[in-house]
Amino acid sequence: MGRRRKKEEKIIRKTLPELFLCPNCAKNSIKVTIDPKNNLAGIRCSACGLHGRIVIEPNTAPVDAYSTFVDKYYEGATQKVG
Ligand SMILES: [Zn+2]
Repeated sequence: MGRRRKKEEKIIRKTLPELFLCPNCAKNSIKVTIDPKNNLAGIRCSACGLHGRIVIEPNTAPVDAYSTFVDKYYEGATQKVG
């Protein structure tokens, strides 16, 4: 039996962490985590610790959640750390 083993093609999806500019410390270190179950987006800056959670529409892209967060930040509605 000349069974040939197929080379498994691994599709490596690059999961580039999407980082956004932090309105607090001006570093590119904001990470957005989407929680589709609860329609929430978590935003956290790994540099200064700024974080918040916002309610999002289903299928909201991280970048949209981020801009909503920034809007809220400037309105003073988000939690500020430090
Ligand atoms: Zn920051």
